[in-house]
This record gives sequence, C-alpha cells and structure tokens, in this order.
Amino acid sequence: MIQFAANVPFWKGSLHLHTTCSDGVLTPEEVAELYRRVGYDFINITDHWKTSDYSSLSDGILVLSGVELDNKPPYEHVHLIGVGIDPYNVAPDMLDRKFMRSQSVQDNIDALLKSGGLAALAHPAWSLNTAETVSGMNGLFALEIFNSVSGLPWNAMRQDSSYLVDVLGARGRRLPLIAVDDAHFYKGEECKGFVMVQSESCTRESLLDAMRGGKFYASQGPIIAQVDIDPECLIVMTSPASRAVFYTDAAYNSERVVQQDGGTRWVYARKPALDEQFVRCEIHDAQGRRAWTNPAAWLEE
Ligand SMILES: [Zn+2]
Ligand SMILES: [Zn+2]
Repeated sequence: MIQFAANVPFWKGSLHLHTTCSDGVLTPEEVAELYRRVGYDFINITDHWKTSDYSSLSDGILVLSGVELDNKPPYEHVHLIGVGIDPYNVAPDMLDRKFMRSQSVQDNIDALLKSGGLAALAHPAWSLNTAETVSGMNGLFALEIFNSVSGLPWNAMRQDSSYLVDVLGARGRRLPLIAVDDAHFYKGEECKGFVMVQSESCTRESLLDAMRGGKFYASQGPIIAQVDIDPECLIVMTSPASRAVFYTDAAYNSERVVQQDGGTRWVYARKPALDEQFVRCEIHDAQGRRAWTNPAAWLEE
C-alpha cells in the first residue's frame, strides 16, 4: 500500500511559529515574508493563547491561523498547537488562558477541533510527556518528532521526541509525525523543520483534509517521494541520501541501518519472528539532515 498518490503536488509548510503577538521577536508580516522568501508554501502562526485572521498576509504564501495552548499536569507540561483554526469561530473560552488551564488536556484538544482546526502535541520531549499521558489524548493528528527551538543554545538538548514515538508505537499508538521550528528568536532556529503535505491545492481546506488523512511527512531537508508498505517489506523512495534507519519495537535487527551514498530506495524486510508492532524510517542526508516517515503497522496478508 502506497502513502502518496501519483501526480498530486506537495506543499512545504511550517506549522509552529511565534510572533510579536506573543513572545516572538518578529511581527506576523515579517515572519510571513521570511518564510515566503525561502520558498515555503504555507505557514501556521501559533502564538500562545492568541489567534487572528492572517489572510491579508497571504501574498505568495498561505498564512493559516493557529494557536498554542498549554496545561500543567503533575510532573510534566502539555503544549498543544492548533493548525488552521477558523479565527471567526473559535470555541467559547478557548483563548481564556486561566479557564482553559483549569480544564483537562482533552478539553483543550476538543476546543481546537471545535474551532475548525487540527490539534498536535508540541515538543513532548521538552515537556517530559509520558506514554501514559499521550495515550489518554484523543483527536491528535500528529506529534512533533522534531522541535528546533527545544535544542541548543535556546534550551537543553530535547529537540528529538523519537523515544516517545517508539514507546507509543510499541503500545499500538501510531501517531503521524511533524517537524517544526517553534521559532521565537529567529536566530538560527527557523527553517530547520518542516512538513510536506500532499494535497490538490494549497488552500486551508485542502491542506487540512490531507493532514487529517495522513498525507504528509516531516523533514529537515531530504525529500520523501513515496512510502510503500506491504506484509513483507517497507520501501521508502527519497532524494539522494546517505543512510536509512528503520525503527521498530524489536530489540535487535542487524538490518536496521542501511548506508548507501546517494541512495534513493531504502528497503526494510519484515521478519515475522520479530513480531513488530510498528515500523518507521528516518532518512539521513550527507549534511546530517533528517526526514521521517510516519509509524506504520505491517499490513496483514
Ligand atoms: Zn510550547
Ligand atoms: Zn511554541
């Protein structure tokens, strides 16, 4: 079964960004211009507890209305981003920080969905989220496997949430993956993680439909052209890369890492004796940049 259709375009997007409307240093106009200049097709502005109609900025780039909400359960934080919400039909109280923090995480997710958008779990490694916490969340379309600003020199080294992705995968929760900048300072954390969404057009409706249907992948640079999974193997077609790493819940497999300079076709053969609950692929290019396929279950014969 292939993930992507033939002859349908991909659109490059940045889903998690801050501006001067909360704690970012650039205005929404400056952020839209920055990402437009380097070739992004769309961005989703996610200021803390704030949203707005940014359609007037959509000139050469589509600017979606997003938001970031946060809760503080014991021992961890939970940050959620809303993608493509309708700024004129925001759920009652959703932007009331004090009230929403008194509600459950699920109430916050539901408010994002009621506002016409999608909800994703932000930077779970930075937040110290556990599999138990995430397992209790319904309605997420994705989680951030990579969050640029959660690393040096802005934060400790918690950019990468792979470990939690795999703990969840072993338990049968296969959440799709996004890579984001979470840019605040625009001092090098921007343009480091993005999504490629396959949809008929670069409009809010078309992109949200595609994201709901899992038609996207996360990247820092490498292109994923196709992902093909069947009962026997996972095949990933890419731009020229140098390595593929296949993650599963099996403890050891000598064929987990494939090195091939300039390789564009990467294959992982299923070994039924390993009884794997999921498989996913991380592609590395010669510059050390990565791209990620979504975790998948092996198809039954
Ligand atoms: Zn956050
Ligand atoms: Zn953020």
